[in-house]
Amino acid sequence: MSLTMNSTITLNNGVKMPQLGMGVWQINNAGAAQSVQWAIKHGYRAIDTAKQYGNEAGVGEGLAKALADNNLRRKDVFLTTKIFNGDQGYQSTLDNFEGQLNRLQTDYVDLLLIHWPVDGKYMDTWRALETIYREGKARAIGVSNFNISRLKDILKMASIKPAVNQMEFNPVCQEGDIKQFCDRHNIHLEAWSPLGGGRVLQNKVLESIADKYDKSVAQIILRWDLQRGVITIPKSVHEDRIVQNSDIYDFELSEDDVKLINGLDNDDRSLWYGGFKWSGNPEGYTDSVASWDDDKEFIH
Ligand code: NDP
Repeated sequence: MSLTMNSTITLNNGVKMPQLGMGVWQINNAGAAQSVQWAIKHGYRAIDTAKQYGNEAGVGEGLAKALADNNLRRKDVFLTTKIFNGDQGYQSTLDNFEGQLNRLQTDYVDLLLIHWPVDGKYMDTWRALETIYREGKARAIGVSNFNISRLKDILKMASIKPAVNQMEFNPVCQEGDIKQFCDRHNIHLEAWSPLGGGRVLQNKVLESIADKYDKSVAQIILRWDLQRGVITIPKSVHEDRIVQNSDIYDFELSEDDVKLINGLDNDDRSLWYGGFKWSGNPEGYTDSVASWDDDKEFIH
């Protein structure tokens, strides 16, 4: 399998998305600006943020600097952001999206996702995403954290199919049924918390595979994502780890080792995600628009 750092996945509307990117959840604005600059300097061409992370402004600043420093153009970097739960609904999604573009210092994003399926609202939010797509302000649109029944809801009414479902996906949480459904409908699976937020890195089986290939556990997991055909967006605030997480193109996992990792699945979702139970709001989070403060560094 000849994968390179430039490998892309062709989404269902023909747009090419880098298979490896960097996520910036739980990083403040200054940190996000710095991590984005390191990532782009070291060859990453995709960044994943969200209004909910409170760091779109930092991402926008880091991206602008990185493009200038590396002689790149906006079109060279694939930028994803997400609709904040509190903004969901047709008109409020459209209205609030303009602020997201301003903070990101861009007039379009490459991928726009519904961050969470807020019940009673996500269908209207999807119609707003279709409007944004038709206006050329998002090159692709998709969802995040949608289970099969909610994906079916969207597919029933959509004029434009979701291109991506961004889900928690790592060796201990593989969501096989949802992945199979997405594969069948040509919705690409993108892995959030590919390293399990760090908690999967001490797994003994993964450690032994890492020893065998002389790689770190993080590298083994990320290579496994690539070989599974999943889009992956590990997060780090350390330059050496950002480099390490992209140094995954000089080896290939054997079919047996891929199967061994596939076998580690035990439905072990992160606590926060489990608490969400596919509906309502994440614990401790209010979806009132009025409660949102753009200066807040991050929520959660
Ligand atoms: P990850 O699975 O990417 O793990 C990040 C953690 O692992 C951090 O603590 C990081 O520490 C550490 N880490 C990273 N690389 C290494 C390494 N090579 N060796 C050892 N430790 C390492 O977690 P996230 O939850 O951040 O998920 C990734 C991205 O997915 C997010 O940033 C966000 O963009 C997206 N996401 C989307 C969600 C959604 O609902 N759609 C939900 C959650 C995440 P350090 O930073 O200190 O290096």
